[in-house]
Amino acid sequence: MGKEIARILLEWHSRFGRRFSFRETLDPYGVLVAEIMLRKTTARQVEKVWPEFMRRFPTIEALARANVREVEHLIASLGIKKRAHDLVTLAKKVVEQYGKIPHDPNQLKSLPGVGEYIANCLASFCFGERLPLIDSNVRRILCRMLGITEKGKKADMMIRKAYENIAPLSDYRSFHYALLDLAAIYCRPKKPRCEKCPVKNVCRSYNTSF
Ligand code: SF4
Repeated sequence: MGKEIARILLEWHSRFGRRFSFRETLDPYGVLVAEIMLRKTTARQVEKVWPEFMRRFPTIEALARANVREVEHLIASLGIKKRAHDLVTLAKKVVEQYGKIPHDPNQLKSLPGVGEYIANCLASFCFGERLPLIDSNVRRILCRMLGITEKGKKADMMIRKAYENIAPLSDYRSFHYALLDLAAIYCRPKKPRCEKCPVKNVCRSYNTSF
């Protein structure tokens, strides 16, 4: 079942997935900036800002030297004013402590503003790891699709296990973006659009709702 879900998702995503420039980069710095920008902000909003940001501050060293006011101005449309300060602080910490973005997920997690999700994204997209990438969207889809109704730690364990079971060995990054796009287009928090959803035939929630 896991392989079938991944196959359907990847096939759907190759035809209908959303395309964003920040999803193409293999540069850990670019991924880090994008993931910080994506917090509480839509991918479409980030797409309007990220390319120009990367032109203005192309390296972590450039960002570490940046004037916070200038960064604030550049990313003002994303909201959350403090994010500019956080980005510069993070860049300074990386440069001072490691010299470059570390590969180790535990070292990544020790950086200010970098939690498990962002650390796992960086390690998986840029450093050859294959770690679970579970945010609130992925969590919602997996719970609905697999009929997980448990709460708390038990749910966390089940969701992680389900993710590891479904995630393909190759196309790991595309698989993750497929889940995010499914969440944005069909499996929305309220009023999911199940009738048009590409995975409805393998979704337990959909198939038990009659
Ligand atoms: S069928 Fe509905 S509940 Fe199931 S994954 Fe698709 S949108 Fe979500």
